[in-house]
Amino acid sequence: MESVSRIQVLTPAVVNKIAAGEVIERPASVIKELLENSLDALCNRIDVEVEDGGAELIRIVDDGEGILPEDLPLAVTSHATSKLRQADDLFCVQTMGFRGEALASIAEVSQFRLRSRARGESIGAELAVNCGQRSEIVPCGMAQGTQIEIRQLFCNTPVRRKFLKKAGTEFGYISEQFSRVALAVPRLQMSLTHNGKNVYRLPAGQQLLERLTLFYGSSVTDKLIPIETQHHNVRLWGYVGHPSLHKGTRKSQYLFLNGRYIQDRSLLHALNEAYRGLVMVGRHPVAFLFIEMPGDQVDVNVHPTKSEVRFRDGSLLFRMLLSTLRTKFLQSDLQSTLSIKPAGNPAAPTLQNKQERVERDLVSWAKQQLEHQVAQRVTTPPDAPSPMPAASSQPMEKSEAGSDGLGADAFLAAMENSGSNEPTTVPFAEQEPVASTASDMQSPSMPVPQPGEQRSGIPALQVDDCYIVLSTDQGLTVIDQHALHERVLYERFRNKILEERVEVQKLLVPLTLELSDEQIALLLDQQEMLQQMGFQVEEFGRGMLAVASHPVFLGHQVIEDVIRGFADKLGSSETVTRRDLLDETLHMMACKAAVKAGQKLTPDEIVSLLAQRDIVDDAHHCPHGRPTALVLSREELDRQFGRLGA
Ligand code: ADP
Ligand code: MG
Repeated sequence: MESVSRIQVLTPAVVNKIAAGEVIERPASVIKELLENSLDALCNRIDVEVEDGGAELIRIVDDGEGILPEDLPLAVTSHATSKLRQADDLFCVQTMGFRGEALASIAEVSQFRLRSRARGESIGAELAVNCGQRSEIVPCGMAQGTQIEIRQLFCNTPVRRKFLKKAGTEFGYISEQFSRVALAVPRLQMSLTHNGKNVYRLPAGQQLLERLTLFYGSSVTDKLIPIETQHHNVRLWGYVGHPSLHKGTRKSQYLFLNGRYIQDRSLLHALNEAYRGLVMVGRHPVAFLFIEMPGDQVDVNVHPTKSEVRFRDGSLLFRMLLSTLRTKFLQSDLQSTLSIKPAGNPAAPTLQNKQERVERDLVSWAKQQLEHQVAQRVTTPPDAPSPMPAASSQPMEKSEAGSDGLGADAFLAAMENSGSNEPTTVPFAEQEPVASTASDMQSPSMPVPQPGEQRSGIPALQVDDCYIVLSTDQGLTVIDQHALHERVLYERFRNKILEERVEVQKLLVPLTLELSDEQIALLLDQQEMLQQMGFQVEEFGRGMLAVASHPVFLGHQVIEDVIRGFADKLGSSETVTRRDLLDETLHMMACKAAVKAGQKLTPDEIVSLLAQRDIVDDAHHCPHGRPTALVLSREELDRQFGRLGA
């Protein structure tokens, strides 16, 4: 008979390895922990050097207060910290957090070397730890501060090591951690080097805006709006993007608490609430927000990687952020600073005018909405925000929206999808997509309709430069010109890619894009897929990507949007399969290349668009899941007009 299992206490090595799994996921997590330690050591300068995305080497050197030689072993002992003297300190933290696990965990899974010379000491001391095995402490000559070197991260946890991504991708994550600290503490002198190449060299004593310009370029910082507010001892300040500055993911929304980067869903929610109606559905505003508050009002140790915190009064912050932004938007003339993108087609000035008008209308409409809400809100403050503040999650009731009776979301979705400023309501009792019946209405290259197909004799009527209306055997058919064209193009692109016969336009002068290091790394990782779609991309100096070729069917002006959109998708946290990625990118390309709502079509163009309906694969619904056409059947017409007595 088997004996009963005995309970054993885990050895420190095992405990550390488990902790390492929680805290240290990849080289970037090491960088994060080490940067935080350097900040806690009150340094003025940090130099980071990595090789092969951090898998080979991570070296970080600071000029902080250092560690006394006799404390070196404690630095790599778990649950040992200099940042907490008594239990009460747990609730009053000025440092980056004090779980006391980081160095012990890292030293357990790497070849680790710690050298430090404490303030007031004349010489430094060095401690090496090889996968948890400590060597003797030896003296060494060095400047004041701490130097940590990590080689062969995860050398004794092969599965972890195997799952590291390509060096460029890992470096992208590292670069992101680095920039979070660089933005949190702009006064700090910092540098980042990858494989011997200097990537960032940030001078000491910068202002936040200078640093933001360094990282994002003036195309972003020119569109930032400063905000500032204070309530008792809680201060909230920073910059938020003009609504015309929006991104495909939430990654450009930064929150900092007492000088360090944090994540907080509730505050991000407040941010996005504030922009509701100003930024298109599915797009995300840009923000760099700083919160300063006494350490006893927040618990920073609730999460193993200390990235999430718990505020004592989260709803206060939520309200502060929301009302500050709302007030700011009401005060600023968003319109005057709105930059109008040039229309894609220079031969269609009316289209550009239309787009301008649409954007203007959108802004004034949204402002109206905001005024209305703020007026309401004065009497009804929102409830506590966690996790989704009930009172503010639906600030725009359907009945409050524009006079056309559409809800705000529907309105914005219509704006986004069509570019029209007047979403035409189609009050059909039944809205039936006619995708599967497209063959009924083929009019292959004929300017005059065939008898029995379009009974009225008028080929088709374009309504509001947006919809094409025609009479068919089924009744009255209304086609969304953009939706149909988008779908046609999508099918075309897809077939070409599948058959590997994408026509490629080589560029004599490559198009250059300014992107973040992380985005560049992600894109270079997917060079092959991009090639398949007809894009040839190469690294082009720091922070720049060169596009040397693009698929012929895409106009020059939208290439940048497509590449950026692709990078956003790669960088978003949702893990997508290769197929989904390709598919989503195809949708995006089709959407960008398709005729827009608001574009006047010639009779020939209408005929040719209708003629292309047969290449649309029935099994595949319209790219965005919207119907491309609606049918009002004869029966429905009869019923509506009271002919059937129904
Ligand atoms: P924690 O930061 O949670 O205390 P760590 O494992 O990250 O735990 O670090 C352990 C201890 O080592 C710290 O409390 C600090 O005293 C010391 N230490 C780590 N890095 C540095 C550094 N760069 N400068 C000075 N002291 C450091
Ligand atoms: Mg630490």
